[in-house]
Amino acid sequence: MDKILNYINGELVVPVNGQYLDNYNPSTGKVYSLIPDSDKDDIDNAVSAAKEAFQTWSKTSKQDRSNILMKLADSIEEHFDELVAAESKDNGKPESLAAHVDIPRAPANIRFFAGAILHDSSDIHEMDGIAINYTLRQPIGVAACISPWNLPLYLLTWKIAPALAAGNTVVAKPSEITPMTAYLFSKICIEAGLPKGVLNIVHGLGSKVGDPLTTHKDTPIVSFTGGTVTGKHIATVTAPMFKKLSLELGGKNPNIIFADADFDKAVSIASRAAFTNQGQICLCGSRLFVQEEIYDNFRDTLVMKASKLIVGDPKSSKTNLGAVVSKEHMEKILSKIEEAKKLGGKILIGGERQILEGDLEDGYYIQPTIIEGLSYDCSINQEEIFGPVVSIIPFKTEEEVIFMANSTKYGLSASIFTENISKAHRVAASIDSGVIWINTWLLRDLRIPFGGMKSSGVGREGGFKSLEFFTEPKNICVKI
Ligand code: NDP
Repeated sequence: MDKILNYINGELVVPVNGQYLDNYNPSTGKVYSLIPDSDKDDIDNAVSAAKEAFQTWSKTSKQDRSNILMKLADSIEEHFDELVAAESKDNGKPESLAAHVDIPRAPANIRFFAGAILHDSSDIHEMDGIAINYTLRQPIGVAACISPWNLPLYLLTWKIAPALAAGNTVVAKPSEITPMTAYLFSKICIEAGLPKGVLNIVHGLGSKVGDPLTTHKDTPIVSFTGGTVTGKHIATVTAPMFKKLSLELGGKNPNIIFADADFDKAVSIASRAAFTNQGQICLCGSRLFVQEEIYDNFRDTLVMKASKLIVGDPKSSKTNLGAVVSKEHMEKILSKIEEAKKLGGKILIGGERQILEGDLEDGYYIQPTIIEGLSYDCSINQEEIFGPVVSIIPFKTEEEVIFMANSTKYGLSASIFTENISKAHRVAASIDSGVIWINTWLLRDLRIPFGGMKSSGVGREGGFKSLEFFTEPKNICVKI
């Protein structure tokens, strides 16, 4: 069976303790590779290599860093098909999704920051001819980058690209549930000639690898994307060490459809926002608010659309929904559907595990599920489920829907559908979310400040915000 290796100081190495964990293929429910069950010793080795490499990498010119990263992006593209197949096998997502979203975004992330670092500028504050202040932005040291399982290579590269472009070195911990593309990426880094120690990837559990990484005395920057509970833990353990911390956390995103919306567009996008990646995107629209006048028609059309979605083999180009990421996650989603029923929710479609045939019979498939009849403030409409489950709720007025949309502890993203431009801007300004889309969903521009309010996160990623996060500003005052 294939053994995944850690990537430390430019080499692929076995974990110090020689222990491994099983890695499952969610589409079959079978173990197909082994992951290092690393611990503090591996983290110590990785941080030490990254600290040593920082001495050179931080002084490498921006142009040279950019050139190396551009080469890395090219190398990812040379392995495109292999990465698509690996991401789908490791995560359960359809290959078509990995080919259109996950894998193209990895080189795009790297090229974006490799370019941005060449176009960065810093502030000057002039004091009426008496003095000039200028701000240097310098790399900080070893960045700890921790990423989740839903968009494995996409989110790993979204963190490491700005960290490396800015001149830091990195120790990354991918989710232990989806380690494969990070492993293939470490091989690509070796092939592309990334200097040793600049990037290190240590595989293993959050408790055994994540904790020693985030609390290590030599990782002054921690960039985390994952669940709100884990984010809270990381904030708690890193705060006394005064680390620079970025948290991109969960969401319970409202999708608001006014009666004057373009109906066909709104219903298509609402379906995509609910079920893409089996509903396992932090930006998925899992609370669907529909204005009373069009509610019945909208609901019935959405159910009809969901009935046509194919839950199937991730390898098939016909498949719309693949498997969810793990058995535990599947059971959690199914238990939430049961809870919804107990709370009086009516399952309009789906609601069950889907059993496929042959090799796929033990895979973790869930039918796309639409629930109605739940109050906006019940647990199902307040807590993240992170599966192919959407709750549909009618509303009467603009004020009412703004109140309900803002009622959760989260504030990541929202979508608003209306043909009334004034209403669109008014509602967008009133929703407590870091990212708002009007008449669209998941349209991403890598330059925008991306992140959440409230329990959805702290700080923003994207464009120069990421480069600011991964550098320390230093003001220098020159007396004239
Ligand atoms: P988790 O919080 O469970 O895990 C995220 C990462 O943190 C994993 O690599 C995990 O490792 C690691 N981790 C766990 N415990 C610790 C610890 N004590 N110290 C350091 N690291 C630790 O999230 P999921 O992987 O389940 O991802 C899903 C969540 O991510 C959802 O809530 C989703 O909304 C959110 N998300 C947010 C995004 C955003 O941009 N705001 C984007 C994408 C997802 P391990 O797997 O080994 O436990």
